[in-house]
Amino acid sequence: MLSGDKAIELWEQVREKLRNEAGDTVFDNWLGLLSLSSFSEGKIVLAVHSKFHKDWIEPRYGNRLRTLWQGFNKDVVSVTLIVDERLSGKTTRKVEDSSSSILNLSSPLDPRYTFDKFIVGPSNNFVAAAAERISESNDVTFNPLVIYGGVGLGKTHLMHAIAWKIREKNPDRKVVYLSAEKFMYQFVRALRQQETMTFKEQFRSADVLMIDDVQFIAGKNSTQEEFFHTFNALVDQNKQIIVSSDRSPADLEGIEERLRSRLGWGIVGEIHQTTYELRLGILQAKSDDLNNSSVPKNVIEFLAHKITSNIRELEGALKRLVAHSQLVGRPVSLESAQDVLHDLLRVNNRRVTIEEIQKKVADYFNIRLSDMSSPRRARAVARPRQIAMYLSKQLTSKSLPEIGRTFGGRDHTTVMHAVNRIDELCIEDSLLSDDIELLKRTLDS
Ligand code: ADP
Ligand code: MG
Repeated sequence: MLSGDKAIELWEQVREKLRNEAGDTVFDNWLGLLSLSSFSEGKIVLAVHSKFHKDWIEPRYGNRLRTLWQGFNKDVVSVTLIVDERLSGKTTRKVEDSSSSILNLSSPLDPRYTFDKFIVGPSNNFVAAAAERISESNDVTFNPLVIYGGVGLGKTHLMHAIAWKIREKNPDRKVVYLSAEKFMYQFVRALRQQETMTFKEQFRSADVLMIDDVQFIAGKNSTQEEFFHTFNALVDQNKQIIVSSDRSPADLEGIEERLRSRLGWGIVGEIHQTTYELRLGILQAKSDDLNNSSVPKNVIEFLAHKITSNIRELEGALKRLVAHSQLVGRPVSLESAQDVLHDLLRVNNRRVTIEEIQKKVADYFNIRLSDMSSPRRARAVARPRQIAMYLSKQLTSKSLPEIGRTFGGRDHTTVMHAVNRIDELCIEDSLLSDDIELLKRTLDS
């Protein structure tokens, strides 16, 4: 028999698999919106908020969902998809007009991602203010707006909020929102079908062009080129451009210099790591939204304290807790939180800094701490340095450019090389791999 705990755990595993298989974009826009609605006697029911989404998911991923569930647990007899409109925050939004081609370019906007659901704190107030200003006014005062920050910190949410707001204030303005990946896909398709002129015209008729996760086009030269031209054409016509990225324009590798510098012309705003107060505020707002569930204050504080990685995880944790309590019919408590979220809590507990890693590794190999950032290339210091870079990548959430900077301003490719090299060496050299295990364990504790 499939128990409640088990079903939730399996669902997490299925989701993780799906994210890996389908990629972040498909997952975030489609599969990730599925939620576990019920299960009994091995009959799994998954719900999504709109028929549109169900009709997209079912033919493409219906069978895969079944196979995954059954692969994880043979007690699963069926997996059904249903539409549950209660899952969408706002069901009254006007459906998008699909008759005009410009809107077809645009990806659907998530009805939950609006300004009124975006909690502002010190880590995001600058960006949020810029975003609100852009969407309030029809004049283009700063162009482009670049929103950057780590995963799960609210970039996409803000982009959608801007788009909703502009459409609400002025339905005549053509807002095109899409991921850089989709931009590339559209462009490649246009190339293949010899429709690049149409492609260009369509994009250039936008009043507001929003490209999410622009880092995706780094290194993709022809797409970048096309984006650059579109960008210039729109800026020349005084149209608004808004892009998001997981790192600052200066840290975008594989982006041509002229595009990078153009990105820096307008306003560049960072969404920083969250603070405790912001996490608390978000949890409070979200738990109020999840109707008929009461999450005690001490649990909210516990989560805000423990889950510091990003807002997506924070939100996921809360949802998991509430779903769990509903399935097993027990109220949410500190104990259930510790129990249900133990895996998440463990990962979030590990908050080693790069500085600590550098120090531990330098001690361990008996080199000077300053050699971690010195230009010396002798093997005796270079190898420990690589190990420290490797551990920084593994044990912290810092990006390659950030790690590089902490190691005496090295380039991100140097860090990447170190990570790959140590990975390889660990396979060949069991002494080294023991060293690393040992270091990891001391850093972990
Ligand atoms: P990113 O695009 O930066 O990876 P998302 O915009 O997808 O992050 O945000 C991840 C999740 O966290 C979303 O569900 C979003 O609604 C939520 N979120 C992020 N920032 C906030 C915020 N300031 N207030 C409320 N929810 C937020
Ligand atoms: Mg995003």
